[in-house]
Amino acid sequence: MGKTGPFMRFPRFTRRRFLRNLILFGGTLLGAAALKNHMASRPRFPISDHCDGAQFFNPGTHVNRTWWDVLKWKRTSTASPWPETVAIDPPALPKAPLDGTVCATWINHASVLLQTRHANILTDPVFSDRVSPLSWAGPKRVHPPAIAVEDLPDIHVILLSHDHFDHCDQASLRHFASLPHPPIVVTPLGNGALLREFGFRDERIIELDWWEAHEFAHGFHVRATPARHWSNRVMGSRNRRLWSGFFLQVGGRTVYYTGDTAWDDFMFADIRKRCGEPDLALIPIGAYEPRWFMASQHCNPAEAVRIHQTVGAVTSIGVHWGTFQLTDEEREAPPQALEIAKEQASIPPASFQALAVGGSITV
Ligand SMILES: [Zn+2]
Ligand SMILES: [Zn+2]
Repeated sequence: MGKTGPFMRFPRFTRRRFLRNLILFGGTLLGAAALKNHMASRPRFPISDHCDGAQFFNPGTHVNRTWWDVLKWKRTSTASPWPETVAIDPPALPKAPLDGTVCATWINHASVLLQTRHANILTDPVFSDRVSPLSWAGPKRVHPPAIAVEDLPDIHVILLSHDHFDHCDQASLRHFASLPHPPIVVTPLGNGALLREFGFRDERIIELDWWEAHEFAHGFHVRATPARHWSNRVMGSRNRRLWSGFFLQVGGRTVYYTGDTAWDDFMFADIRKRCGEPDLALIPIGAYEPRWFMASQHCNPAEAVRIHQTVGAVTSIGVHWGTFQLTDEEREAPPQALEIAKEQASIPPASFQALAVGGSITV
């Protein structure tokens, strides 16, 4: 009797070939699976003292606050009431300097316009009404931006420090991406995909790891500096995009924007050692209460003064306050606490200022 089953109609050599092909096919599948695993485990970002290849962290102590912590915060303290609206009276925008100076204008929150003879640079542009994934809920601005987005001078460079909604504002970034000559956005690792989603083309995005620099022209370059913070937009994995500050050389001046950061005993001295002492520093003074929750992510005004002194800034502007209520302190508490901190540190009052909305300083 002949054999039955699928092979009965094939000569012996064909059966062998079928088995060989089956083994080859199986092998290919196994190989593809192994390659996929390898690709999945391959680091997306350079492994460093602040990255394991996929996720970022603060060197030393990294604090991840949980939803339980948020619940505890909301259960155990009450936010001081803020006014619903604050009237502003911004002066006309100064003309861009023609010499080597930098004119810095506080637009709102952490958005500062830096006008120089080389270029106009904007930090963390936020022009939306709310800093939230929702258009109808979440922290709402209490005053308009000092300059409407359409009244800005041409913006050549945006410094985007991290992905939080009060810094990375989708509507504002989409606006800039849609301009006939979109600015170049400099941002730490991992934020490029977001910017592409918001309409920026690859060639307008510069992603930097901490300490990496990008040169725009001779005497005009920017370096990403470390910050003690974290990242996340809505739900999902945290810290998949890096956070940073920026140290900028432009015109004949240097400007250091800390980004959002907690105080750190080592980091600011290290930034001074590697980058030098800035002519101007933009340092957050708001969103710091309650301390048990916030100290690991946001400095308070006293720590902001320590940052100013430690980096050796000639002049500093307090940012990240007064526009959106993010935390428990009163709206006016940051500039008031800043005055006390300056006095205690015995620094000249003009060396660290909380400007009125639309106020400018030329250094
Ligand atoms: Zn933040
Ligand atoms: Zn922030």
